[in-house]
Amino acid sequence: MLKEFFIGLSQNQFLNAAAQKYGLQLGAQSVVAGTDIHEAIETIKELNKCGISATVDNLGEFVHDREEAAAAKNQILGVVEAIHEAGVDAHISLKASQLGLDIDYGFALSNLREIVGAAAKYDMFVNIDMEDYARLQPSFDILDELSKDYSNVGTVIQAYFHRAEDDIRDYKDYRLRIVKGAYKEPANVAFTEKEEIDRNFIKLIEYHLLHGKFTSIATHDHHVIDHVKKFAEENQIPRDNFEFQMLYGFRRDMQHDLAAEGYNFTTYVPFGKDWYGYFMRRLAERPQNLNLVAKQVFTP
Ligand code: FAD
Repeated sequence: MLKEFFIGLSQNQFLNAAAQKYGLQLGAQSVVAGTDIHEAIETIKELNKCGISATVDNLGEFVHDREEAAAAKNQILGVVEAIHEAGVDAHISLKASQLGLDIDYGFALSNLREIVGAAAKYDMFVNIDMEDYARLQPSFDILDELSKDYSNVGTVIQAYFHRAEDDIRDYKDYRLRIVKGAYKEPANVAFTEKEEIDRNFIKLIEYHLLHGKFTSIATHDHHVIDHVKKFAEENQIPRDNFEFQMLYGFRRDMQHDLAAEGYNFTTYVPFGKDWYGYFMRRLAERPQNLNLVAKQVFTP
């Protein structure tokens, strides 16, 4: 119920536009690293000091015209330059819809091509985050096109999709982030029971650890993390073949502990004025995060 409520709020364009006018509100500052790249770079420097790398998301939602998509592209090109200039250990995460996928496939592809090309000059990786089912195949198509010319690009496999097992076989030679899946999807395309999703998540992670290129295991679930540690040890998977990823502001102690134990670790660092939809999806995933909101509202 709550999950659906917050996913509904995340898609409300009026509230999204209203939120942009104000800075980070309602506790969003604990999970969003500021509204501009300079604040994000300072956060990344602190993470790097602890041996943690970053993947940077210049937040953007509801892009309906070419001007907005072109502006998002220019902002992300600025992020590529800022990461390079600051000399921090970080790469890019972006969404195809932010770059015009809902307007015109060819236009989005050319925007992504520009970003991936700019990042390639600095040997910087670009991850195409995965969105809802409607955008899944076009996002894979973009990846297929880009990988004809570039090797610094990869994507996400969402374990709740029935097709995820086929996708992971087809894309095993890519650097992949594996997640459970964050959007609300119908039962004809996705598992809807937690047990089924968790089972498939483990299956996909094990497959990619054994057969694939570099694996990013993106989860806050300690059961999964413990399982992966054990599985990697038993199967002699070198630690340089995988990493754990978590979102900025979540399970901070565990993030630092995993890095201190010698595991590769990357924190997903979102920033930007367009924080509202991202924040609502985080609340949908874990209503306990409502504490963030409550504290913010009830603390003067
Ligand atoms: P959950 O199923 O939310 O939690 C499992 C258990 O872990 C909980 O029952 C609890 O015991 C424990 N737990 C979880 N969170 C906490 C916490 N904060 N504190 C204490 N205990 C906790 N989704 C997409 O669809 N596309 C993407 O591109 C994408 N990229 C992502 C990138 C990163 C780095 C991460 C971390 C997630 C990403 N996601 C993405 C979201 C993902 O799909 C899940 O929706 C989200 O991570 C919640 O699932 P979970 O695996 O963290 O564990």
